[in-house]
Amino acid sequence: MSGLGTELDAVVEELRGADKLLLTTHENPDGDALGSLIGMHGVLTQLGKDPVMYLSPEEFPLPHELRDLESADIVTAPPADMGERVAVFLDCGNIDRMPVDFLQREGIHILNIDHHHDNTRFGTANLVDPGASCTAEIVWRLARELGAELTPRIAAALYVGLITDTGRFMYENTTAAAHQMAAELIEAGVEPHRVFSRIYESLPVARVRLLERALASLERYDGGAIARLHLTVADFEQTGAVENDSEGIVDHARALEGTAVAVLVRDLTGDRAGKRKVSLRATDGRVDVSEIARAFGGGGHRQAAGATTELELDALTEEIRAQVRRQLEAV
Ligand code: AMP
Ligand code: MN
Repeated sequence: MSGLGTELDAVVEELRGADKLLLTTHENPDGDALGSLIGMHGVLTQLGKDPVMYLSPEEFPLPHELRDLESADIVTAPPADMGERVAVFLDCGNIDRMPVDFLQREGIHILNIDHHHDNTRFGTANLVDPGASCTAEIVWRLARELGAELTPRIAAALYVGLITDTGRFMYENTTAAAHQMAAELIEAGVEPHRVFSRIYESLPVARVRLLERALASLERYDGGAIARLHLTVADFEQTGAVENDSEGIVDHARALEGTAVAVLVRDLTGDRAGKRKVSLRATDGRVDVSEIARAFGGGGHRQAAGATTELELDALTEEIRAQVRRQLEAV
């Protein structure tokens, strides 16, 4: 990545020069989205700047496991002085993943900080590092460049991004840098056991009931190369689970012996009724699931990607099978 140092320098300059900023991330924010957001906010505040964080009001309450990242500083309406603010997008691969009008207007000055390899580079300045395990890792680097101290609050937020996006240091993006970052964050006050137990334990029972249904729905295709789980609207209603309670469930299909691609299909409700959210996970380098997700209008990483589609379950499954077959044959 020859241009990466230049991109880093340019974004550091932009951040140094900015006074008022608005930080945001993608819709349905996950641990890396919120961790990067809160961490970056802490860094910029420490530097004496005026950063506000924006999330759509629909994102609240935040997912149960991320409840510790609730912050009174997050606003849910466009600030009146938006015209004076530099917009900073974190962990957002394309601008349509933050579907609010006021951030998509012409003329907005955007810093785009992300680690998705298929980032559409929609920023005025872009810092896109697909080699970073998580966007929080890029924020960690920026903090050092900007001379900010890792306070316990900043460290805790960045640690959440790190452990969630690396699947607790299990996925292919788990690098030496990821572990070096973990060490530094622990030195800055993070208590790993406490964070892990807040995120992965004390589960709402509805979440376990939903998992039970998802596991019961398992279908395998093509000799087990594809493992598909499916959650219906009734599964959510009858267990009392919310959409986010399905987070992480796809990993159970990924962990199955013989799986090349794990799929979780969730039927959506409300104003997205009739649509399905599909999560894709690859177990090794043979299949690039982000390519499949892009065919459905989504995107992501080679090993973890997602999309929202109107295709029916059967048609969707057939399309995924065809694409996986094509990619496996090309190896
Ligand atoms: P998920 O399956 O929602 O956990 O998402 C897995 C990965 O795919 C994450 O890195 C997301 O950022 C990315 N992703 C999920 N949905 C979309 C989408 N609609 N468009 C682009 N990227 C997505
Ligand atoms: Mn991320």
